[in-house]
Amino acid sequence: MQYQNTLTYAQQQDKEDRISYLRNRFHIPKDKNGDNWLYFTGNSLGLQPKSTKEYINQELEDWANLGVEGHFEAKNPWLNYHELLTDNMAKVVGAKPIEVVVMNTLTTNLHLLMVSFYKPTKAKYKIVIESDAFPSDRYAVQSQLKFHGFSADDVIEWKPRKGEELLNLEDLETIVSEQGDEIALLLIGGVNYYTGQYLDLKKIAEIGHSKDCVVGIDLAHGAGNISPELHNSGVDFAAWCTYKYLNSGPGSLAGLFVHEKHAKNKDLPRFAGWWNHNKETRFNMRQPFDVMEGAEGWQLSNPPILSMAAIKASLDMFAEVGMDSLREKSEKLTGYFEFLIKQIGSDDIKIITPSNPKERGCQLSIQVKNADKSLHKKLTENNIITDWREPDVIRCAPTPMYNSFEDVYRMVSILKGFL
Ligand SMILES: *Cc1c(COP(=O)(O)O)cnc(C)c1O
Repeated sequence: MQYQNTLTYAQQQDKEDRISYLRNRFHIPKDKNGDNWLYFTGNSLGLQPKSTKEYINQELEDWANLGVEGHFEAKNPWLNYHELLTDNMAKVVGAKPIEVVVMNTLTTNLHLLMVSFYKPTKAKYKIVIESDAFPSDRYAVQSQLKFHGFSADDVIEWKPRKGEELLNLEDLETIVSEQGDEIALLLIGGVNYYTGQYLDLKKIAEIGHSKDCVVGIDLAHGAGNISPELHNSGVDFAAWCTYKYLNSGPGSLAGLFVHEKHAKNKDLPRFAGWWNHNKETRFNMRQPFDVMEGAEGWQLSNPPILSMAAIKASLDMFAEVGMDSLREKSEKLTGYFEFLIKQIGSDDIKIITPSNPKERGCQLSIQVKNADKSLHKKLTENNIITDWREPDVIRCAPTPMYNSFEDVYRMVSILKGFL
């Protein structure tokens, strides 16, 4: 790719971008003077699609006009509303519809999945996570260990090698081949939240399964960002939130994936509620519990429709453009971002995200020399929204849905002025 370091070039790329029209479908926050922010935190909270309000209003109106009858009479009847999300969500993560459901929040889903898939014995009970796992995931697995009578220290960390930032699959292979008899579960971030490294899920599944370890994936930074091909990867389960790249609003519901190979296994231990009971007899109430097949068999409660409406607004857009177009633009956009940062030629910053587009999504993690946090502050004061992650990284995620080549060009020009 022959990139050029000029505003004209960036603007030309936007003209040639077949999905640039999507930007207009989002609310881009502005400063007091009415200037757009340069928003690079779609990996933390995605921007609001303009259509979200309509989707939510529809449900508010149906509720106002129909009360409880909305369960059956709403334009999109609430009783089965979650089913309207399944196909499009399955496409986003490369799964079959029976493998996916939208419910709860991410950490809750991880716990519910561990109820079924973390079945420690006295000999085989340890859990492997990345050393830079998202704190919530670490707390979740530590608490599962303690819940089963083990110690928080029974977590095994998969660490980058000395002097390196990224994870190496060979090291995971070594951990599993040497200690696999004691390991019950691998719970790995498919795209690491800190470095932006996208790991080979299929390989991770093979490594884990070679020693009969269950393999679970946290896709918080993957869903809507990369194309994880969850079904083909062979991982046992996965969960992800929808408020990051899936633009469904703060604290919105999460996704859950259980591989088809477990879909009909009714013997898996699991928590139950009326919503994972057979739909046909759910309202008879006095039946013995009869669990549903597939991912829906992990639901507990009837879900919040207002949040689902926001997810629907977003997923309808993902379905319209498709992950392939988004990925195609994303590789170019992040490649351009990387090119421009390298052109600055400063020793004060270093990109730690892999440079191979197949090993990353849109995020670049920029390590700042001497952990100088003032750089992040200066960016923020100049309408550039990024985030600082301890100890020394600025994360920037140009998303293909609403960021432009011009955004990236302007961002790096300003950044350059501070170095
Ligand atoms: C964002 C994120 C979370 C957040 O968990 P919630 O339950 O949605 O609050 C957890 N894990 C990872 C890897 C994340 O990126």
